[in-house]
Amino acid sequence: MLLAIVAVGGAVGFRTLLEGLGQFYYLPMVPAVVVTALLARRLATALAVALSIAVNLMLVPRESVSDALTNAVLFAGVTWLLAEICWGLRALDSRTRDLTRQLAAKDAMLNTALASVPVVTLASNGDIRRLNPAAANLFALTEKAARGRPFAELAPGFDIKTIVGSEAPGGPLDAKDGHWTGLRPDGVTFPLSIQYGIVPGSSDDEQIALCLTDLSRWHAADAQARELHAQLNKVWRLNSLGEMAATLAHELNQPLSAAATYLHASQVDMEKAGPLGDSALRTVELAKGQLLRAGKIIRRMRELLSPEARRLDSERASSMVEDLGPILTMIGSSKGVAIRMEVEAENDRVRAERIQFQQAMVNLVRNAVEAVGEQTAPEVVIVGRPASETHYRISVEDNGPGIADDQIDRIFQPMTTTKSGGMGLGLSVTRTIVESHGGRLQVSRSALGGAAFSFTLNREPGVENA
Ligand code: ADP
Repeated sequence: MLLAIVAVGGAVGFRTLLEGLGQFYYLPMVPAVVVTALLARRLATALAVALSIAVNLMLVPRESVSDALTNAVLFAGVTWLLAEICWGLRALDSRTRDLTRQLAAKDAMLNTALASVPVVTLASNGDIRRLNPAAANLFALTEKAARGRPFAELAPGFDIKTIVGSEAPGGPLDAKDGHWTGLRPDGVTFPLSIQYGIVPGSSDDEQIALCLTDLSRWHAADAQARELHAQLNKVWRLNSLGEMAATLAHELNQPLSAAATYLHASQVDMEKAGPLGDSALRTVELAKGQLLRAGKIIRRMRELLSPEARRLDSERASSMVEDLGPILTMIGSSKGVAIRMEVEAENDRVRAERIQFQQAMVNLVRNAVEAVGEQTAPEVVIVGRPASETHYRISVEDNGPGIADDQIDRIFQPMTTTKSGGMGLGLSVTRTIVESHGGRLQVSRSALGGAAFSFTLNREPGVENA
């Protein structure tokens, strides 16, 4: 409002200055309305128009009322039109500013997002046009050194024709060996995946954008998972052998001692036969010796393969389970089962032999996955949490059929299986491992509806937190 009054006041002053040159009627008032429209809103502009008309009526004598009215209406119409144009321009200006701001924000966001993604742009002949800092870092090159070089020098085997000739506007670029190989100037190579995009409407000079991913870490993780898998397989074989040796020792012990007792009885009879039986006595003595030796061999083999003698270290339960992630995923996905892990990392330091513990977990999870095969919504979950000041409890639960009460004792016996291809060693091996850790393997009904196998590990004394 004040602005309208000041603008009209200014215009009146201006008009007074021009008075010596002639009569200007409404003309000097036009800038007052335009300035008000540019700087203020409709109400102030309307006030400026009204004030201008009032001042004009007062200062300029008119021939008639109709003349005064016509001029006033014309002035109001023209200035209002000008004001509308001003507001239109103002709206356009503010929209342009808005768009510029949004564009700058998007640009900043894109730059931030791309800062960590190596991106290379190529000309249609495959020569490098630009590298972002992440790509330069990846290839240990400066942008200047790379510009103009064929990208095939950095990724041997890369052929621009496969992209230029492809129908698709972008996507992953398949490599012969499953992945591309990046080559640094010092000859170091690394596995690489390439995603390409053909920039729409771009010049011939910068037509293709490549998004690169360094696969080194994935490959290392994959190699680590394979290594763990190989170790677990080895341990499984050893444990199974140990378990079989234990079973054999147990089963053979009785016939071996019976045979030894019979031989002993024969010896007593032979002694009665006097010198005639001497030779047979010696042979029977030798046979007895061999029988005892057979028993010792089996016991020794059992001792050698038993995990009981192994050393327990300080380990984190959550980390031992997490490391199994890729292997458990593999076991689960073979049957379409997603394995949930709910292992608390708080106060999870325990005494354990890492590989043996992991072997026990793999056995329990594999059984659980096999048990839920028939379920429409199969569920397998690994739960881990401190059970007391001294123990940490781990359980593997499923929503399979569970275990009938009268089967509970049987399933832990070696060579007991209900599966066509089963060996019946998993649970007995697991039980031996758990016992070698000072725990007890128990089975109960899970809240999920199936079986819950659980055991405790001894918590590391005096270590409260991770
Ligand atoms: P295997 O898996 O070779 O049969 P195990 O000793 O691991 O040997 O298991 C013995 C038996 O215990 C299995 O054949 C199965 O009948 C039963 N069992 C084990 N785990 C489960 C489970 N989670 N749910 C139902 N039954 C199970």
